[in-house]
Amino acid sequence: MLLRHTHTEILPREALTVNPAKTCQPVGAMYASLGIHNCLPHSHGSQGCCAYHRSALTRHYREPVMAATSSFTEGSSVFGGQANLIQAIDNIFTTYDPDIIAVHTTCLSETIGDDLYQITNKAVKEGKVPPGKHVFHANTPSYVGSHVTGFANMTKAMALYFSKSTGVHNGRFNIIPGYVEPSDMSEIKRLAREMGIRPILFPDTSDVLNGPQTGKYKMFPQGGTPLEDLVSTGDSMGTIALGPLASADAARALDGKWHVPCRVEDLPIGLSATDRFIDALRKAAGVSVPDSITRERGQLLDIITDMHQYFYQKKVALAGDPDHLIPLVEFLVQIDMMPIHIVTGTSGKAFEKQIQALTAHLPCKVNVKAGGDMFMLHQWIKNDPVDLLMANTYGKYMAKDDDIPFVRFGFPILDRVGHSYFPTTCYRGGMRLLEKILDVLLDRMDRDAPEERFELVM
Ligand code: SF4
Repeated sequence: MLLRHTHTEILPREALTVNPAKTCQPVGAMYASLGIHNCLPHSHGSQGCCAYHRSALTRHYREPVMAATSSFTEGSSVFGGQANLIQAIDNIFTTYDPDIIAVHTTCLSETIGDDLYQITNKAVKEGKVPPGKHVFHANTPSYVGSHVTGFANMTKAMALYFSKSTGVHNGRFNIIPGYVEPSDMSEIKRLAREMGIRPILFPDTSDVLNGPQTGKYKMFPQGGTPLEDLVSTGDSMGTIALGPLASADAARALDGKWHVPCRVEDLPIGLSATDRFIDALRKAAGVSVPDSITRERGQLLDIITDMHQYFYQKKVALAGDPDHLIPLVEFLVQIDMMPIHIVTGTSGKAFEKQIQALTAHLPCKVNVKAGGDMFMLHQWIKNDPVDLLMANTYGKYMAKDDDIPFVRFGFPILDRVGHSYFPTTCYRGGMRLLEKILDVLLDRMDRDAPEERFELVM
């Protein structure tokens, strides 16, 4: 087994990452771009980067992910990619006819120092951008941040590039959903509508990366935030940003530019974080919570009550993105589980402080590391074993090596199918998460039970 030589002695490491707990910025930027209707993501760099980012998204969502590339060669790597990008813009509008091209940079074009603002303006001046069509860009150097930073940068770029203000409110609310599955975006919209709110959700990958099988290929599926909605975000009554890392920058940019007031909330994962999201909607729109949502909340509470005996004091190890892990840890603590090893690949001391505050009352030592890696998590697990591991697909190696019940959670999930069709956010998503956790815990009990304790009814 690949990881069987992970040793228990933890040595100080500063400049070495082993099995990173994150992926690179352009992956998130490409994902955010796909959440605009009729938009083609464009990777300004080498073909290899673009192929990797597309394949990461295609493998996770099991949908063909389209993106173009500036196809840097040796020449452009030395002299810059201006000529390649202008040619690409011309080719893309002529051949594929999107409404929008969303350009993101890569390590290579950032290291060269290509000025995307100047290049895209030059393309406009040279008539390579047809009337009514748009090219905008985000800088996504991957030697800092993670896929979530890339998502945040692209989302902020779309807010700044497209939003306009007519001075008249449109009666709508912006919701920035964070780096979540397309199904989560649908769920967030559904709850907002249920409260009588007309949301502008951006970006919105629902019906782009979880669309129906129709037998016909469409390069630009029907989903995605419409251009007119993006433009209208400057006229909205307010913005709710879900997930501080992925969404706050865009919300604050709209506030700064058009004075659209914003609220930043955790991703609605679990009971309390969803309560806060619903409360934020209620206060922002001045509406009351309908009985249908109160009922869903009650169902989640009922499931927690029924399952609690199995969760009590089970130790959990977690790897993922800060926006996911903070509400998840809060949820697990609430159901009396004990998250004791928590790693994110994204740097930032605030994350560690928040996790320490959430777990302060647990009767055991809690390890938390921002800017950590899977190797460190595995070492912690070997020193202090856990009953459950929750992480993206890369966690399966640890799970197999140490025989730990494993729930796939976060991005990317490359070895299971269907996850992008079912939410893990809001009350219904919370129910699904709990079912997944309990299933692996009880499967393990069944597997290990001696014959006389192998129960039909648990
Ligand atoms: S070179 Fe940079 S942008 Fe390209 S795949 Fe590697 S980390 Fe990502």
